[in-house]
Amino acid sequence: MRSEFTIRLLRLVETFDIGDLHITLDRQGARRYSKVSYPLRYGRFAEIKTPEHLFQFNLNGELKFISGRGKDWPNPSEWLKRTVSGNWVYYSTGGYDGPYDCFGEYYLPCLSYPSNNINLCDPFEDKAVVSAIEALGSLHEELVKLDSAPLPASVGKFLDLVKSNPPAELCRKGGMISEIIGDSVTVLPPDTRHVDYDVIPLIIADGCLYKCGFCRVKSRLGFRNRSEKNIETQIGRLRDFLGSEIANYNSVFLGQHDGLNSDPALLEFAAKRAFEAFDLGNSNLQDPSLFLFGSVDSIIGACRETFDRIDGLPFRTYINVGLESADRETLGRLRKGITAEGVETAFAKIVDINRRYERIEVTSNFVFGPGLPGGHIESVLRLIEKHFDHPCPKGTVYFSPLLDAGDSGWKRNIKREFYKLKMKIPVPSFLYLIQRL
Ligand code: SF4
Repeated sequence: MRSEFTIRLLRLVETFDIGDLHITLDRQGARRYSKVSYPLRYGRFAEIKTPEHLFQFNLNGELKFISGRGKDWPNPSEWLKRTVSGNWVYYSTGGYDGPYDCFGEYYLPCLSYPSNNINLCDPFEDKAVVSAIEALGSLHEELVKLDSAPLPASVGKFLDLVKSNPPAELCRKGGMISEIIGDSVTVLPPDTRHVDYDVIPLIIADGCLYKCGFCRVKSRLGFRNRSEKNIETQIGRLRDFLGSEIANYNSVFLGQHDGLNSDPALLEFAAKRAFEAFDLGNSNLQDPSLFLFGSVDSIIGACRETFDRIDGLPFRTYINVGLESADRETLGRLRKGITAEGVETAFAKIVDINRRYERIEVTSNFVFGPGLPGGHIESVLRLIEKHFDHPCPKGTVYFSPLLDAGDSGWKRNIKREFYKLKMKIPVPSFLYLIQRL
């Protein structure tokens, strides 16, 4: 049993073997997010390898990744991630045909909560995955029994940090983010995939403009700007909460559902203050990014000065706009309070902003599902064709699968249906999975 072992210490730079625990401190991952087809870690982290698992910890000693090392682990290139809100995500290679064409990423995030995920199998039903999560508790118990007094200070300090974060504490911390920002982030913009969904959330305005009938993530609040004071308070508390790990962030999500509709001066204030207070200029990761949602009315209503302000920020900015459809009947079916003419005007503005500003990318969403009126896909293709007569690498168009219980037949065909559509679209186009923080 590991609790009875004699401590054997082999120091190789920052690597220690203690019984059958292999500990590596201060590992340096990649400094820039990139799309690769193998497990790549970002920023700085530490890890503990047991015969069965590899546990990787952030700079606060909080568990961030687990992968299995045994034969029962589904795939040696796959892993589990614990998000800052305490949600588990399983990164799947997506099988034989891979997920890149559908999602723009080499890994498919499988979520531990209900979403519009198109996966037919659930890794959270796999025994090896479940026991990997449980193994964190066993590792923690083992570390608590370990006498860290004879260990070198650096490893003792790291183990103390890990010991201060047992599963119950991680669970408590996971719930704190919503308390700090005053709302739960139930959906992240699809563009946050570019930073593996690791964003610092900062709410600049609550609610949204439409309260669409089909939407599962809407908040009960009407649209309302937060005050500068409230934003400052969130920033201060987020900085304290994230602690040392803040150095591994380079991106901010300005929530909630329509950040673009907020007062432009407030948006600029929040982005600049976040950049300074979170010290993103000195992050372990390069290329700071800013993410927000927009809407048909906010993109139409935003004036040139607003985009000039955004362009002047020390971030590359991604704005994701929910257009849903350019077909009147479909918009009616979705109970979305916008018109097809509004969608056309908004799309033209999106194309214009993408051409005008190098550091701003506006992306759009359309729904995708069985049982929508025949005019829906036609209307989307017509809209795109009107603006693009040759391929363009900017202005990604996302399609959000509308999935209801009983749609398993369509779920099985969704990739094929999507590929047929994608071939007709001259800009990058991907499926949008609704993912929480
Ligand atoms: S789709 Fe967007 S605008 Fe419509 S209710 Fe949901 S969050 Fe609000």
